[in-house]
This record gives sequence, structure tokens and C-alpha cells, in this order.
Amino acid sequence: MLRITGGKVYDPANGVDGVITDVCIANGRIVSQVEGGRTIDATGMMVFPGGVDAHTHVAGGALNFARGLVPENQRAARKFLHGTGRRAGIGGMTPTTFATGYLYAGMGWTTVNEAAVPVLSAKHTHEELHDTPIVDKSCLLLMANNEIVLDLLEAGEVERARHVVGWLIWAAKVYGIKAVNPGGVAAWKWGKNANALHEPFEGYPRLTPARIVSGLAQIVDDLQLPHPLHLHCNNLGIPGNFATTVETMKVLDGRRAHLAHLQFHAYGGDGWRTMRSESAAVADPFNTHTNLTTDAGAVLFGDAVTITADGPWQHLLHQLTGRKWGNLDVENETGCGIVPYVYKDRHLVNAVQWAVGLELLLLIKDPWRVFLTTDHPNGGCFWRYPEIVQLLMNVEFRKEQVRRLPEAAQQRIVLADLDRQYTLSEIAIITSAGPARALGLSQKGHLGVGADADVAIYPEEPDEGGFLFSYPRYVLKSGEIVVEEGDVVAVTEGREFIVQPAYDSQIEEFIRPLFQQVYTMSFENYPVAIERLRRPEQIALGPTLTTKPA
Ligand SMILES: [Zn+2]
Repeated sequence: MLRITGGKVYDPANGVDGVITDVCIANGRIVSQVEGGRTIDATGMMVFPGGVDAHTHVAGGALNFARGLVPENQRAARKFLHGTGRRAGIGGMTPTTFATGYLYAGMGWTTVNEAAVPVLSAKHTHEELHDTPIVDKSCLLLMANNEIVLDLLEAGEVERARHVVGWLIWAAKVYGIKAVNPGGVAAWKWGKNANALHEPFEGYPRLTPARIVSGLAQIVDDLQLPHPLHLHCNNLGIPGNFATTVETMKVLDGRRAHLAHLQFHAYGGDGWRTMRSESAAVADPFNTHTNLTTDAGAVLFGDAVTITADGPWQHLLHQLTGRKWGNLDVENETGCGIVPYVYKDRHLVNAVQWAVGLELLLLIKDPWRVFLTTDHPNGGCFWRYPEIVQLLMNVEFRKEQVRRLPEAAQQRIVLADLDRQYTLSEIAIITSAGPARALGLSQKGHLGVGADADVAIYPEEPDEGGFLFSYPRYVLKSGEIVVEEGDVVAVTEGREFIVQPAYDSQIEEFIRPLFQQVYTMSFENYPVAIERLRRPEQIALGPTLTTKPA
């Protein structure tokens, strides 16, 4: 039992905005009252629900590939030594599993959504998620280039595709589905891409990216998944791609979807030399499409590692930068590319990218529909989120950064014209309450009775030389104090959220012979046994509201 007293509580899901009130905890949950137990005096501090990362890359084959590709980063990274139950680990751009848990918790974030899992390597992902301490997790299955599903969509067999997708979700033990560059990753197996939403792509004479998007969005709704289709649109990173993004909103035709890392999809111009921000052209239609949520995928200047299933984009990025490049093919299902990258403030394209992420966060009016992410580690590392918060909350600080950009870059962005400053309550929405709601995790993102007791307590003033929200004084995970005075003091084990959609069990008889034809793995070895997940928790089906009810 525990009581937090004297702190200013920010709990926007329950309409609490900076009110000094007690937060009581028993048996890992928020309760209305406790007698006895420990008291935390939070006088002079702010009490927030633990952060929820809607889109990050922290576990699985792609991460391991990236860790191996950049040993120089690993050597330079912050080291975590053994201590107070802690295992040794390495931080940096692609932290090891243990360090990932320590770094998220050390910043006050307690739930993470790993956004890209191929069925074929789901076992690996779950093994790494096991080893990621403290935080609760969910993960999303890569589905928009799965050849069995694409064959069915091309044949117009959407109902059978729904049963296959339901079975694959069960087989991989995941929480939802992700579409990366629909059709483009499948076409990449022939060295091609899928740049036009309404045109067929290599290997599929009749299927288009638009039909994959609408088909999967329909399937997600029919399966009643709590999180909508998680969509990485076509033409990521390419000048002029804002038109594809806006057209994708139309293709969704009112169906629920989450548009991932929107920053990478809001560029104008017809080439790198003319690239400019089109954040307003994306934010305006987004504002009226209340069926959609998004995350920023903001860019921060400095080192990053790009990791994505979007193989053709990674090859292009390698050609543009000359940096080392890794490409993985995941048979029949997806691909993966890795390119280390440095975002430079003197670089025109990078400066525009940096501005676009912030512009979208400022131009999208409803904070319940846009979430703070960097598409870690693609736009920057998750442990730099407090820098973005500072840029959102302080217009003078922001404009000072804009003035440092090259003159040519300043003319291609609108950031200097935006005077909006986020309130503390809005920060609680974009870092916790909003993503929890979009993920359909009703016990997360708020401090009402019955919620998981995931709480971050921050000083009201930033520490010397740091940012507000960099160093919580206390972090509680499921009611246990895991961080005290900026140090991890207890290492707990998080849960893993999964769903179990309904499907026709006869679908196995359809899939089994296809396996014998096209997979190197045997059908029996393909599904992940539930025993591989140490603390699975099944979340009820039923689509949740994308926006906050009035
Ligand atoms: Zn991503």
C-alpha cells in the first residue's frame, strides 16, 4: 500500500489538470483510499501517468541485426553495470534488452509497443521482450506484404484473408497488425517498389497498395482488434510524398487507422533539392479525419540508426548517404533494412525533417490523436523525448533553434510561424493518455481507480543542465517503486499484452499445404507456444474509440 501526497496531479483522461490531490495505490492498482503503508511526499512535484510509447523498435531480429551492424555505437554507448538487481547492459541508439527497460523506466515510461514483428521471427521478439524488464509491452505483426495474405486479397477473398490474419495473430502471439509500405516490400524482392497507391506492383498484376490498405483496415475492424490498423504509408521519406499520405486517408474511407511516424510522410517538392515541409497539407485533412490517430516520428539532430521493414527505402537511403547498409529478406512475409544515419542541422533535408515533426505536433489540433515518438531509433532515440517536450512547451526556445537552421531551410518550413505552446496536461495526453487509448489499453494512461499504478513523479523545475521530464524523482510500475532519485532501485518483470481474435479453425487446413510449398520452416514449428511469453495478458476484443468521447 502506498500514498502519494502533495503533488500536482496531471490526469487528463479523468479531467484532472494540475490539482494537488492524493493518489492511493494497493495491489498494483490505483484505489480510492488506503490506510497505512508508505507515503511519498511529492510536494513541489508533478504526478503523471507512466508514459506509453505507441511506436518503437526495441526487440527482435531487426534490432539484433542493427546492434551487430554498428559496433562503434555500442562501444561509445552508456554502460549499465550490475547493481540492485540490475543486469549489465549497453545503452546508446539500439540499447540491449535490459538497458531498454532501465532507460524507459528511468524516464518515467512504463509501457512500450514494439511496432514490427514478422511471424517468422516472432519467437525471437518474444525472447527479447522477456528480457526487457520493468515495462509492459505489446507488439504488432507485419502483414501488408505477407504473400499468403496478398494472394487472397488479389483474388478478392477478403473473408478467407481475415481468417488467415486471425490465425497468424494467434500463431505469433501479438497484439495487432502493422502495414509497412503495402506491396512495396513484396515488390522489393524483385528490386522494385510500390510508389503508386492505385497501381498494381511487381508480382501482383491486379492488387494495388490501396486495396491492401482498405482490405487490412476492414479485417482489423472485423476481427475487433482493440488497436486499429497501424499503417506505415507508401513512399516514406520521399519528397512529394504528402500527396500519398493524403490519398491514403481517403482510401481508408472512415475506417480506423493509426498513421505511423507521420513526419516521414509529410514532404513536398519534387526532389531532394526542392524538398520542403507540407505539414499543413497533411495536418489539415488529418484534423477532419477523426477515424485516425498518428504518432510524430519526430527527428532530433544527432546520431540515429534507421531500422525498417521498408527495404526499398533503406536501399535508397544507403545510395544517398553512402553509409553502410544491411538488408534482410524474411521469406514470404516481409523484409528489413538497416542504415546508420546522422541528422545534421546544417543539412537542408535534415533541417526540414526536424521541423516537420514539430510542425505536425503543433498543427494537429487534437492532442488525443497525435503522440510523441521518434520512431525510435529511426528519428532519434527514445531517451531524448524530453528534448521534444521542451521544444513543444517553450516557443522561444523553439524559435531560437529555428534561427540556427540554414536560411534555405527556414524558407521551406512553417515552424517559425507557430506560436502554440503545449500545456502540461497536453504533454500528459501525447505521452500517455492518448497512446493508451489508441492502443485500447484501458488500464493504462490514467490515474483513475482501477488503473494500473504506473506513475511518474517529476520535479516542477528541470534539473541543472537537464530538461523537464528527464529525471523523475520516483517511478512506480504496477505500484512498486522502481526508480528513486533517478536511479533504478527495483527490477520488476512486465507483462505482455496479446489478443485472441476469432477465426475459423479449418483455416489451418488451407494454410498447411501452402507452408509445404513456400516456407522453409515446417508448419508445426511456426506458431509461438504461449509458454514462450512469461507474463501474457489477454486484452478483450472490441474496437475502442479513437478520440476522446465528449
Ligand atoms: Zn517504426
